[in-house]
This record gives sequence, C-alpha cells and structure tokens, in this order.
Amino acid sequence: MKKLMTGNEALVQGAWEAGVKFASAYPGTPSTEILESLTERKEVKSEWAPNEKVAIEAAIGASIAGLRSMASMKHVGVNVAADPLFTYAYTGVTGGFVLITADEPGQHSSQNEQDNRNYAKAAKIPMLEPATSQESKDMMKEAFTISETYDTPVLVRVTTRVCHSKSIVECENRVEADFSDYEKNVKKYITVPAVARELRKKVEQRMIDLADYSEKSPFNFIKDNGKKIGVISSGVCYSYAREVFGDEANYLKLGFTNPLPDRMISEFCKDLDTIYVLEENDPYIEERVKMLGFVPHGNDTFPPYGELTPDVIRKSLYGSELPTISYDKDMVISRPPTLCAGCPHRGIFYDLGKRKNVMVAGDIGCYTLGFSEPYNAMDFNICMGAAFSAGHGAQIAFDLKNEDKRVVSVLGDSTFFHTGINSLIEVLYNQSKTVNVILDNRITGMTGHQENPGSGRHADLSDAPIMDIEAIVRALGAKNVKTIDPNDLTLVKETFDWALGLDEPSVIITRWPCVLKKLSQQDQEEFQDVFKDKYKVDQDLCIGCKLCIKAGCPALSYEPATKKTIIDRNQCVGCGVCAQLCKKQEAIVKEER
Ligand code: SF4
Ligand code: SF4
Repeated sequence: MKKLMTGNEALVQGAWEAGVKFASAYPGTPSTEILESLTERKEVKSEWAPNEKVAIEAAIGASIAGLRSMASMKHVGVNVAADPLFTYAYTGVTGGFVLITADEPGQHSSQNEQDNRNYAKAAKIPMLEPATSQESKDMMKEAFTISETYDTPVLVRVTTRVCHSKSIVECENRVEADFSDYEKNVKKYITVPAVARELRKKVEQRMIDLADYSEKSPFNFIKDNGKKIGVISSGVCYSYAREVFGDEANYLKLGFTNPLPDRMISEFCKDLDTIYVLEENDPYIEERVKMLGFVPHGNDTFPPYGELTPDVIRKSLYGSELPTISYDKDMVISRPPTLCAGCPHRGIFYDLGKRKNVMVAGDIGCYTLGFSEPYNAMDFNICMGAAFSAGHGAQIAFDLKNEDKRVVSVLGDSTFFHTGINSLIEVLYNQSKTVNVILDNRITGMTGHQENPGSGRHADLSDAPIMDIEAIVRALGAKNVKTIDPNDLTLVKETFDWALGLDEPSVIITRWPCVLKKLSQQDQEEFQDVFKDKYKVDQDLCIGCKLCIKAGCPALSYEPATKKTIIDRNQCVGCGVCAQLCKKQEAIVKEER
C-alpha cells in the first residue's frame, strides 16, 4: 500500500516493518516526531527518556537482552549520547540496534550546526543516509539487518528536509523479529581494558568487512548519462543535484556512507573532466575523494555551512539564481521570536532584566528568549543542562576577581531532568553562592509538549509517577529552596532579593503551567481557575504611559492614534502580569472569559 509520509514517519514505518520492539528518545527538532509517531504503533514499547544518554543506554540494554531496539535524537543529542555509543560499537549487539541522528544544517532551532556523519567515522560504525521518505523506510529496515549481520550498532543520519518533507512510500507488513537469545558473555560485554583491547581488533575487521558491503550496497549506485561532469552526493543533496544538473551530469548517489565505497568512487571519477561533491556542512565525502587521488570541487565552490538548496547551488555554480516573483520587502512585518502571551517565564525575566550587577546564565528551551527585548535578561547559554554548572564557574571568576557580581542561573523542568540535576550537584557540592532557578512549566515546552518525568504522564499519555522537583532538590542537599508562582511580581522580587542576600547556594522553583498546555487532572487540581479570565484596558483610565508594555506580552499593543494601550482578547490568557505593572492599576481590569 502506498502512503504519503514525512521522512520521520517513514523511518518509523521501516523500523516497525523490521519488527523493532523498543524505542527511546529525548525530543529535539527535527527528530521529535519519530518517537511521537512510534507511540501509535502498539507493538513497540516507546518511551521518552530524561536525556539522550539514558535514551541510548535503555535501548542498548534492550538490544543486549535480545530485542531489536532503537534510539532517536537531534544532532546535538548525540554529543550527550556519545559515551555509550562508542563503547557499544566495540561490544556489538544481540538484537539489532539503530541510532537515528537528525541533523539540522542551517540551525533553524539549534545552538550549533554539526555534521554527525563524523560520529560514524569516529565511532567506527556503519552509516546510512536516506534522501527521500521511501529511502528512509528502506534504509531503516536494512539498518537492522546490517546491525545483526555485522554485529554492530548502525547510525541512520537524516537532515531536516528529509525529516519533514513528504513523499510517497510503499508500505509493507511488519515482520515480527524473533527475540534474540541472550547469553551471558563477559568477553563481549564487559569492557575492562583486557577485553576492550580484543574488541578493538574486532572493530577494525568489521570495518574491512563493511567496506566490501559498501561496494555492493544497493544504496550506493551510479547513474551514467554519458557526460564528463560527475556529481557525488548523499542524502537530500542528491535530489538538489538532480534538480540543478538534470541529465547534464553523471551521478554517484551514496546512501551507505560509512565506510565509503572507495572502488566505486574511483571507478566513477576516473574518466571525468570535472567532479563536484555536493554535501551540506563538512567535506566528509570530499576528503575521501581527494584521498583517492582526485581533485573535486566541494567546499571551494559551495558554502561549508548552512542548508544547501537548488538556488544556493545555482548561485555557487553560475553566480545567479532562477528569477522569482519580486515583492516590496517593507510590506512584510518582522516577527522576532518572543515568549507567548501569558508565558509563565515572563515575570521572572521582567524582574531579572531590571537587576544591576547580575549575570544570568541561561539554557536551552523557550526561556532562552529571556535574552531578547524587552527583557535583555540573559548573558549566555551553552547547551542543555549547562546553566547551573556554567553559572557556578562564572561566579568563581567574579569572586576571584573580587567583583561584586552575582550569577542567577535559569533552566526548565525538562532540562533539569535532562542534565540539570548533575549540574545542580556541581553547585551544591562546591557550595557556589549562585541563585539557581528551575522554571517548571509542567511540560517540555519548546519541542511541542512532550511528557517528562515531572509531568505525570508517559509518552503514550498513560499516568506516570511525578518526580517532585522540590523533593529532589532538597534530597541533593539544597537548604535554601522556595517554590513560587512566577506571575506574582511582588513575590518574584522578594524571592530574588532573599536568594541574592544569601552567601550560599539557593534554588527557586517557579511552578505554573505553560499557557499552551492541555491541563491534566493533576494540573487542574493544583492550578485551580487558571486561564479562566482575561484582562482588558479601560480606555477612560489608561494614561498611555506604556509601563504595561514592558511585560513584553504579544497581546498588548499601543495605539498611537488614541495614545492608549489595548489588549487582544484572543491572545490574553489572564496571567495578570501587565496589570501589576500598570501605573494606574485600575486601568487594566479582569473580566470573565
Ligand atoms: S511554549 Fe509555553 S513556555 Fe514556551 S514561550 Fe510559549 S507559553 Fe512560554
Ligand atoms: S494579562 Fe496581560 S500579560 Fe497576561 S496574557 Fe493578558 S495581556 Fe498578556
């Protein structure tokens, strides 16, 4: 049966057809929909994990014990998961094991742009790179076969355009994979140095065997149009190449890309006058082609960062793009990213933005937007979970320099469970005097509301035990802990004043649900009457001082004609933050929804 599928859905279809039985993931664009889609396949036990390292570890455990298993994550997640991945490459698998890395050339929602093909090379594991949804399905199935045949984890590397674009997929039935027999085998699975040294040799032999497979893989093929120009590419770049060069070039399409098929590459290149290597980001294939003695055009012609598109390729080659419809760019209103109307992080950043002599260490999530106007309340962010530990280091620097500067570190609830707990242990163990804020909005907000260990539900929305953040923090040894309503600006100010007055670590937990969250039964019991009212500006009382606008809420706007503020009823969720800022407080009034 044929179906229209995104690449992410097709990866799931392939895994399902291959009989996968366990999947674990941490959400992150562009990989999130893989596990979300898997939760609909009841034959697969699918779980959200607190972070990518434990996701891959859970899947590795299931694989060792005999299940076909998988983990999926965005590119930066593989940095977190790299430790167990590299060792699992040594031991090999029992049930087939596949790791999906969803890379993001162009870094539309990521803190960096890294090319995870390098991980396959560094970890010495085979890699597949689909170009279309059909290939995503086919390669996922083949990945499990390769994994079990060559006793290795397999990396399937996709990019945003493959993950999110749709094309036709020929769907087949699931073939129920047998449970592989688990046998205790310490010479395979206990990686003490004496064992690991033996395994190291096995890894080298495996790569030699896989190089042979690469030459024969149906995912590596040549399309000969009888031309003297040749294009080598992998993944979605193959589709772009076909669009730009058409039948005016020969093609080497690479789908199995670690190890690369050296003999096939040499055969393809040997009679060509001009060779182009089209790939996004790093010169991964280009370097191999050069090593084989050819002189291709790659990074000397195409940009080494950002997404390639047919237009970018045309411009790089010919200096011009295809003509497009022109329009007056002044007509397009710029929409900088901002916190949603009624976002519970607003009050925190409003307060922090006003404080002098405070550095704010941020983290990865919606709350990163605290850096922007009108708050300007964040100094830096590094990666998930880094706020507390990086803030601790910054505080040490200020103390050593005798600078009277205090660090406030902020991260979210999902980020706290991700790696923020370890980060907080660093602070508490070393007794930093930083203020550590956990913005608990009861869900993983930025990636689209995935459950987490604090939200009370599993990936399939069944009830889960709630990990109590305040109890965890206290159990780690924090003495100065307060949980507050972040919409109460007086309370926020008093709590920061209290924490900054201490000469030892403190933890502030702000607890209020994300405005976009569908409240669970537990939420409704805890947060009674939230999102039930709206606010409006009494136009007779408003004096147009614009103080409320400093809340930064997109529901508020200033009308130059009347010199008054108005509130968009459709956006307002009644958090009340703007009303607390109003100079004439009675000018912003609550009304029933
Ligand atoms: S998604 Fe939720 S947490 Fe994120 S900015 Fe919007 S309201 Fe705030
Ligand atoms: S009460 Fe004010 S700050 Fe809150 S959502 Fe409505 S307009 Fe925005």
